[in-house]
Amino acid sequence: MQFVCRTIILASLMLLLAGCDSRPSAAPQADRHRLTQFSIINALMLGHYDGFASVAELRRYGNFGLGACDRLDGEFILLDDKAYQAKSDGTIVELSQAAKIPFAVVAAFDKINELPCPQLNSLEELETRLDGQFENKELFHAIRVEAKLASIQFRSVPAQEPPFRPLAEVAKQQVVHTQKNIAGTLIGFRTPKWADSLTVPGYHWHFLSADRKLGGHVLNCELASGSIAYQQYGSWLVKLPDTLGTTGKDISVDLRREVEQVERSRGGSQ
Ligand SMILES: [Zn+2]
Repeated sequence: MQFVCRTIILASLMLLLAGCDSRPSAAPQADRHRLTQFSIINALMLGHYDGFASVAELRRYGNFGLGACDRLDGEFILLDDKAYQAKSDGTIVELSQAAKIPFAVVAAFDKINELPCPQLNSLEELETRLDGQFENKELFHAIRVEAKLASIQFRSVPAQEPPFRPLAEVAKQQVVHTQKNIAGTLIGFRTPKWADSLTVPGYHWHFLSADRKLGGHVLNCELASGSIAYQQYGSWLVKLPDTLGTTGKDISVDLRREVEQVERSRGGSQ
């Protein structure tokens, strides 16, 4: 009897292990209604640029996202479960699973809601159109636009060395790139205003070209045509670095104006 029991337990365990082995890749296991953020915007603004979460960990929470790279060495993009670094020269490098990220927003993205994208003259026009689509703007949204762009302006920033200066200062070094007649993906999130000081309020867009060679943080664009997919999220998980607050700077300060300037500014060299 004992032997039979043991055999049954062993068989069950093997089945369980077999089940684990046959599980799909990390992203589909993520909560499909939850957006996950690594660190908070105020910490990034004040110079928390050391990566603390690996790409492998981020992928456990989604297959779609954006953020900053370790030591602020470029913009971070997660698309179709692959992680990319958009360097300050605008070129793209695929990141290893071990690469560490200091700030990111990631989500499991399904093309739940789809609509065609008409010709639009600016990022603002795209955002106004999306605002008209979203049922509840107090919740979070992820947006994916597959687009043919008449033009796009995107930026990235160069790697920083400690002691890290605040992002508002570093952003003055941003390098802005302009491309015309290019196809690619806009990776976007819309965050409600009540979440400011924790994340970037309003829209935040990164770009990855269709050939995966160019990209960065989007400042403006003109859309010739495309398709839009978006998803609403009613749950928001924030994962904090152990080093939060160890720089001695008060992370509760009001940095809304600086965040707006850093995220939307078209200043810097061309
Ligand atoms: Zn960005």
